[in-house]
This record gives sequence, structure tokens and C-alpha cells, in this order.
Amino acid sequence: AQLTDLVRDHVREVADFPAPGVLFRDITPLLADGAAFGALVRGLAEKYRGQVDAVAGLESRGFILAAPLALELGVGMITVRKAGRLPGPVLGVDYALEYGTARMELRPETISEGQRVLIIDDVLATGGTGAAAIELVERSGGDVVALAMLLELAALGGRTKLDGYQVDSVLVY
Ligand code: 5GP
Repeated sequence: AQLTDLVRDHVREVADFPAPGVLFRDITPLLADGAAFGALVRGLAEKYRGQVDAVAGLESRGFILAAPLALELGVGMITVRKAGRLPGPVLGVDYALEYGTARMELRPETISEGQRVLIIDDVLATGGTGAAAIELVERSGGDVVALAMLLELAALGGRTKLDGYQVDSVLVY
């Protein structure tokens, strides 16, 4: 509940960004507040302590959350990146966006067989990015413990794409 208030109080809603008609949730106020950012990371770490062997962040905002969380948990961080950013060998998954497609990639060598992986990102929207990350982690031999999201935009139905997985959203809109 404390974490929920923290996120609610530090997220800004921006109309018509990045395109007309989109209501964007901006987490930069949360990151810029050292006390809030620290409390968030420590709160998340408390929830997953002892349960994960690695934290996988989804580019780009997921990286900002994954790195301090991994350090707080004493585990490594895995980068799930947009197409073409990682040197090979990489695994890739293409997925549909509202308009067009996207591709996420992962270096399978960064995950070991049976490793318990927590996936983290800032916002769960349609669930396409999260589903792609699950596929990449599992094809690399990892076990997905949960997906942690700061915000879930429930109206977009992302959870249905992540059926069967634990999805922990700090704040649901
Ligand atoms: P999905 O694949 O679930 O549709 O979209 C999730 C991805 O889009 C996440 O990586 C997230 O960072 C980004 N995203 C979608 N909508 C928003 C938003 O309103 N605010 C922020 N910060 N990111 C968003």
C-alpha cells in the first residue's frame, strides 16, 4: 500500500504523448526524487528477496529499475534490448504493437539453466513487451518468477497476454 501511494504520488500524466490521443504515464518525477526512488527499490527488493537469481530489465525504463533492484538483491542484471543493440549471439522475438511490430533481443549466455528470473518494466500496457521477454528468458533456460510493473494500464488488457504468470503491478489504473 505504501509503494502504491509512492508511485501514485510521483507519476505524471501527460496527454497526447508521444502521439495524439495517448495519455502517457511519466515516471521521471519518481526517479528524480531520491527518497522516493530509494524507497521504491527497497520495497521491491523486500518482496522478492531470496526468490530470484537475476533481474531482467526491459529497455529502456526497465533498465533504470532493474539495475538498483538487482544490486539491492545481490544478484545480476540481464538486459532485454530493442533490436540491433546487443552483440551476438542473440535470441530475438518479434511482437505486434498497436501500429506495426517490434523486436526484443537477449543474449542467452547471460542466463543459466534453471535461473530464477524476475522481469521488470515501468508500464504494462498491451502486454506484448512482457510476453516477448518471457519467451526470451524461457528460451534461454531461465524460469520466470514474476513480472514486476510499476503501473498497469488495465484497460489495455495486458494481463491476458501474460496468462499463467505472476504479474505484480504496484499501481493499477
Ligand atoms: P506493451 O508492450 O505492454 O504494450 O507496452 C509496454 C511498453 O511500452 C513498456 O516498455 C513501457 O515502457 C512502454 N509504455 C507504454 N505506455 C506507456 C506509458 O504510458 N508510460 C510509460 N512510461 N511507458 C509506456
